[in-house]
Amino acid sequence: MLNLTSDYDNNNELFEMIRPFFECFDADIDVECAFFAADPFVEIDGSRYPVFLEKSVKLSRAVKLALYNALVAHTGKTLPYGALTGVRPTKLGHEIADNGGNVRDGLRFYGVCPQKAELIERIIGNQCGFSRSTKKLNFYVHIPFCTTRCSYCSFVSLPVKGNETLMDKYVELLVREIESGAALIDRMNYEVDSVYIGGGTPTALNEEQLSNVLSAIPFRGIEYTVEAGRPDTITESKLDIMKRSGVTRISVNPQSFCDKTLRDIGRAHTSRDIIDIYNKAKGDFCVNMDLIAGLSDETLDDFAFSIDNVLSLMPENVTVHTLAKKNGSILKNENAKSTTGVSKMVDYALDKLTEAGYEPYYLYRQKNMLENLENIGYSLKGEFCRNNITTMEELYSVFACGAGAISKRLFDGNRIERLASLRDVRLYIEQFDDRLIKKDKFFS
Ligand code: SF4
Repeated sequence: MLNLTSDYDNNNELFEMIRPFFECFDADIDVECAFFAADPFVEIDGSRYPVFLEKSVKLSRAVKLALYNALVAHTGKTLPYGALTGVRPTKLGHEIADNGGNVRDGLRFYGVCPQKAELIERIIGNQCGFSRSTKKLNFYVHIPFCTTRCSYCSFVSLPVKGNETLMDKYVELLVREIESGAALIDRMNYEVDSVYIGGGTPTALNEEQLSNVLSAIPFRGIEYTVEAGRPDTITESKLDIMKRSGVTRISVNPQSFCDKTLRDIGRAHTSRDIIDIYNKAKGDFCVNMDLIAGLSDETLDDFAFSIDNVLSLMPENVTVHTLAKKNGSILKNENAKSTTGVSKMVDYALDKLTEAGYEPYYLYRQKNMLENLENIGYSLKGEFCRNNITTMEELYSVFACGAGAISKRLFDGNRIERLASLRDVRLYIEQFDDRLIKKDKFFS
C-alpha cells in the first residue's frame, strides 16, 4: 500500500512514477514530496532526499524527474523510460528534434536508458514525412463484440453468444452513425486519410452484419484496416466481403504460437489456424500480426518460438506488445504471477525483426506494463501503417463511430479536444439520437 502526500496537484502522475519501483505493494510504502518547500525534498520510508526542480522544462516534467532521481537513489533501480510516464514517449523525441536538439541526449536527460533513447530516435526518423494537419482525419469504427474473453483484456467487449439480437440493433445504428458522419465529413471538407475498424473483434460480426457496416463506409482507395484479430472469426466469405469493400490491411493476431499459452489466455484458436488464415489472406491484404511478450508463464524460448514463426511467414507488419496487467482484466483480478525476463523477449524481437528487414515505426506505452516496457510496431519497407503513426502521434483528427469510441478534433496551435461515446452498448442504443447531435456539433 502506497501512502503518498505531496504539495504538487497531480498525485496521479506521481503515483505512476512510483509504482514501477515497488512492484509488490504488500508492505506499506510512505512517500512524502515537498517540491515547493524552501529546501525541497522527497522522503521515502523515512529516508530524506534533497531534490531540485529543473527550471528549463515544464513543471510536470521537472517534478517527475526530481521524484525519479529520489526513487533511483532510494532503490538503486532505474527504469527503461526513466522519468517518462506518458503513453507517447516519441512525442517528446519529436519535440526535442523540432527544437533542434539531439534526441538521444534530450531523452537521456529524463533518465531514458541509451537503448530506448536510440530506439525512439530511430522511430521518429521513420516517421518523417508525416506532419500535423487540422484538415485531415482518420475514420474509426468500433465493434465491441468478441467470441471469447482473453485473460488480459480490459476493453468493453461483449460475448457474441447470447447477444445476437443486440448485435443486430447495434449494427443498424452504427450504419446510421457512419452515414451521418460521412455526410458531415463531406460538408466540412475534411480529407479522410485512413479507415480503421477496431474492437473487440470486428470479424465477430456475422457476414451480413459485416457487409452492412463495410458497405456504409464510402471512403475508398486509401489505407483501410480491419482488425480481424482472431482466426476463429475469419471465413473465406468474410475475406471476400472485406476485399470487395476496399479493405487493404487486416490484423490476424497470433499473440503466441504456443498452443498451451493460447488455451491459458482464453483464445479459441490454435497456431495452425493462424497460419491457415494467413495463407488465405496474403497477397490480397497487407497483414499485421500482434504478439505479446510476457504471456502466461512463457519463457524466452517460448517467445522466441513465436517470433521465429512470424518470421517464417513474413507479414508486412508485426506489433510486439508487452503484457499490461490492466484493471478489469481476468489476469489482474486473479492476481496472476508475472512472467519475468520480459525485457530479454522484447530485445530478442527487436534484434530478430530488424535483422530480417523490419523497421520499428511507432511505439506507445500503457499503464502497468511488465517491466515498465512498451509496445512497438514493426514494418517491412514501404508498408508502414499510416493510421498507427498519425493516430499515435496525434497528427490528424479522429472521427470515431460506435460504443466506447473516442473522437478527437485537432485545432490550430496544439489544442486537441476529445469526445467519448458511451461505452455501454445498451446505453449507446438508448441515447443514440442525442449523441449523434452532440458529435455533429463537435466536428462542425
Ligand atoms: S480479442 Fe481483443 S477485445 Fe476481444 S477479448 Fe481479446 S483482447 Fe479483448
